[in-house]
Amino acid sequence: MRPDILNPLFTESTALKGVGAALARPLERLGLLRAVDLAFHLPVAWIERQKVRRLAEAETGRMVGLVLMATDYRASGSPRAPFRIHAQDEAGDPISIVYFGKNSGWPRKLFPLGEMRFVSGRLDRFGDDLQIVHPDHVVELGEAAAIPEREPVYGLSEGITNGRMRELVAQGVARAPELAEWIEPGLLARKDWPGWHMALGMVHQDPGARLARERLAYDEVFAGQLALMVMRASSRRRRGIPITGDGHLRDVLKLPFAPTGAQRRVFGEIEGDMAQSIPMLRLLQGDVGSGKTLVALMALLNAVEAGGQGAFLAPTEILARQHFASLQAMLAGLPVNVALLTGRDKGKARQSTLMGLADGSMHILVGTHAIFQEAVSYRNLVLAVIDEQHRFGVSQRLLLTAKAERTPHLLVMTATPIPRTLTLAQYGDMDVSRLDEMPPGRQPVDTRVISDARMEEVIEGLGRHIDAGRQAYWVCPLVEQGEAEDEAAAEARAAILRNRFGADRVGVVHGRMPGAEKDAVMEAFASGRLRLLVATTVIEVGVDVPNATLMIVEAAERFGLAQLHQLRGRVGRGDQRSFCMLLHGQNLSETARARLALMRETNDGFRIAEEDLRLRGAGELLGTRQSGEQRFRLASPEQIQELISAAHDDARLLMDRDGGLDSPRGQAARLCLYLFERDAAISLLSSG
Ligand code: ADP
Ligand code: MG
Repeated sequence: MRPDILNPLFTESTALKGVGAALARPLERLGLLRAVDLAFHLPVAWIERQKVRRLAEAETGRMVGLVLMATDYRASGSPRAPFRIHAQDEAGDPISIVYFGKNSGWPRKLFPLGEMRFVSGRLDRFGDDLQIVHPDHVVELGEAAAIPEREPVYGLSEGITNGRMRELVAQGVARAPELAEWIEPGLLARKDWPGWHMALGMVHQDPGARLARERLAYDEVFAGQLALMVMRASSRRRRGIPITGDGHLRDVLKLPFAPTGAQRRVFGEIEGDMAQSIPMLRLLQGDVGSGKTLVALMALLNAVEAGGQGAFLAPTEILARQHFASLQAMLAGLPVNVALLTGRDKGKARQSTLMGLADGSMHILVGTHAIFQEAVSYRNLVLAVIDEQHRFGVSQRLLLTAKAERTPHLLVMTATPIPRTLTLAQYGDMDVSRLDEMPPGRQPVDTRVISDARMEEVIEGLGRHIDAGRQAYWVCPLVEQGEAEDEAAAEARAAILRNRFGADRVGVVHGRMPGAEKDAVMEAFASGRLRLLVATTVIEVGVDVPNATLMIVEAAERFGLAQLHQLRGRVGRGDQRSFCMLLHGQNLSETARARLALMRETNDGFRIAEEDLRLRGAGELLGTRQSGEQRFRLASPEQIQELISAAHDDARLLMDRDGGLDSPRGQAARLCLYLFERDAAISLLSSG
């Protein structure tokens, strides 16, 4: 239950003064549903109003404010032409005040002929004439002083003006209570930050309030870290199942290669975790092709050797099927039963899988989220492996652990090379392992950056490539409007390429295709019947076809670097030399150029991630938009990066001293969690 002191902040914005039905819609569109949302709706810019006495002193293109006298009205005959008020300053210099729209009644009332008003708005030059279109203030002289030289500008939506928004934000801010300090006193003093309440007021009044903004950003980041820490502490209090396999399965496993040193090291870490009665919560980061699947398999076998069951969760149908196939291949001849379960598996096969899981005869289940649905019950689930975490959220993680009586060990694998600081923001509650060594013999992918003006040459090269018996991917750009358009772009490109290379050699996959159809195409490509696979980014993760050694990405500048790196990871998986062609449009910005050049320079995913971070900020890497969790409202990606370590340490220190958040500072920190709606963490606290 939220503490009463915060209730005023969490009242609905429709209950605020002056919010009628007309404002409800725009507020909803902006996500400003409660007073707190308004209070946290930070200015995106500031109007700096130049107050002058004479037009001659004013700069055009700027917001100005000065006293004018109305001399004449000019309503032209046409209803679509604007209504003009001719006016002059104290020196007699002329200016027009322009209003568009039918009704000239209210401008006339606002600014009667022969009278003086203080007028503020953007001063523009139109031919030889000065004008202000739709001034933001026309007031009697006595009120001029009340119009500030500086005003915050807020994000708006149709149906709400900045003036209205300013009033509403002010109401939101006014509902903010004074709260006890949750920041560690030493840190607070060192940073010279104002208190929370004061900071909230300042950010709406002063564009120079850097410390106040920073403080609020910190609060948000701190709340996120503290919530993760609480989750971690709570999962550590849970009872897990200590697992120590005796090696009888792993010893007979026949691999065509020796594990890399990194694979051995990481596996040792996992084995160590699984042997504990505290459930494992480990993130495995490994670049594309670093061999995460083998690590997963070893962990799963460890579980099975000890008489337990393992679940292997993939983000997509295609990947689930592929993991299933590769596990089956690696486990051939071993007494281990592996089943596949996706949303599409129905009927008898599904029933028998479910029975096998319930009676324990099925050892490993591979699948999509279907494997954690109600109907699936395990006899003894001791390990869950999640591949490609960035598609899953913390909530799914919680769901998963709720499934078993005793919490299964959890291994989360991701190929997204997240820089260390950002790992904290997203996975602060997990231990992290890195596969930082590639299997031997990998050749770096030869990457070229090519203008799409040379599309024809690229297509010719592609023709030679597939005529030589090799396969290729062609990835189509993401289109702004959404999946339907992505699909259309892919289909259109496929049509052109089919025309060229023959319909039987070119396949196409995109996100909205029915699963079975998608699998059929992937299957045809994997088996080599299809030579060229045209795709949207659905092939981004995991797909493994070693004979595919050419990757062409159209409009590469529209992809994130991390995403390009993932895409490129689809090739270079065999012993053949592989190529990646990054096609780009004609008008590349400097940054876009630098980003693509970096792809050409290095195959190192971590370096790419670090550089991408430097070149475009953390937002994209964090994937905040996609994943919909850990959304930060006050902290910019740059601030997150700057503040995360301090927040992490601060939260950890607090938890070490006061794990129940019972001390005065602990109580204050609880308020901070409520304020940023990390309530889920608090429920874990009180339930012990
Ligand atoms: P990812 O980390 O991207 O999931 P995979 O597990 O799919 O990588 O492994 C990529 C490829 O490398 C697979 O074909 C796999 O069989 C192979 N591989 C994995 N480990 C090794 C190793 N130690 N030596 C040689 N090849 C390996
Ligand atoms: Mg993989």
